[in-house]
Amino acid sequence: RQCGYCFFDKQMSINMSENIKDRLGLENDLVTAVKNNEFELYYQPKISCITQAVTGVEALIRWHHPTRGLVPPDDFISIAEDTGQILQLGNWVLDESMRQQREWHKAGLTIPVSINISAHQFNADDLMMNVSEMLVKHGCDPAMIELEITESMLLGNADKVNQTLHQLSAMGIKLALDDFGTGYSNLAYLQKYPLDILKIDRAFLGDQTRSMLMGTILDMGRVLGLKVVAEGVETKAQVNWLVENGCDQMQGFYYSQPLPVAGITDYLISYCTP
Ligand code: C2E
Ligand code: CA
Ligand code: CA
Ligand code: CA
Repeated sequence: RQCGYCFFDKQMSINMSENIKDRLGLENDLVTAVKNNEFELYYQPKISCITQAVTGVEALIRWHHPTRGLVPPDDFISIAEDTGQILQLGNWVLDESMRQQREWHKAGLTIPVSINISAHQFNADDLMMNVSEMLVKHGCDPAMIELEITESMLLGNADKVNQTLHQLSAMGIKLALDDFGTGYSNLAYLQKYPLDILKIDRAFLGDQTRSMLMGTILDMGRVLGLKVVAEGVETKAQVNWLVENGCDQMQGFYYSQPLPVAGITDYLISYCTP
């Protein structure tokens, strides 16, 4: 037997069981996390390429785990998807983000809020009911609410997808296609479904080849009458390129990290009011 191989194998199985334990741990902790108020929404601004004004904010969930500290969404959203806990969590996100939208509105800051919707939530029969209940509960203007879905969610039963999107759209809610270009891309659905916004994944902002693709996506957005938002904008050079090439909105660390309510409220006050 080769020692090197055995060692590698053992290490790998240790890592794997650690991962599984980790996952089970988080899975268990998720059960009480909503009840214990361990979640918080951060908000990241979106900026107009034309006026440089704030055009909206995206709600991004954070988990303050009692012993692990801050757990990023990429570490628990997929677990919550697998266990179905995402439904409860997703409802909390709808509730809290609409409450915040309304609170800002009452304080004179009327700003659209974008909410990430998970696959499970999108496919659930009560999505429409949950969304409309929250709108009524908080008295939010549907036009101020944007739901972000991803490409893979459009691949299910076409009639059902179409019905869901049309119902949301008929309520006056805006629909954004998130992470555009990273998944299975079938351009037909851009025309078929009532989408309002394309959010281009930050992978397309990299080198020149990607900038060329980005140009094509911007043209396509224009032709289809969709607003195009560039995600992950980090440099002045990227900003300049996007402004020159007719992108509509930008979002990224160049302008701001996602911020807790107090921080984003200060940001909104300094950039939204004259
Ligand atoms: P996303 O919806 O694509 O969100 C954008 C992610 O990119 C966020 O990570 C954001 O913090 C990060 N980001 C923003 N600007 C920049 C930048 O300039 N450079 C870089 N490198 N990153 C940037 P975050 O907050 O960790 O969220 C990760 C993902 O978790 C989100 O990706 C979304 O898919 C999911 N997620 C977050 N909040 C929720 C939620 O409330 N519900 C659901 N279902 N998913 C959520
Ligand atoms: Ca998003
Ligand atoms: Ca995205
Ligand atoms: Ca993403």
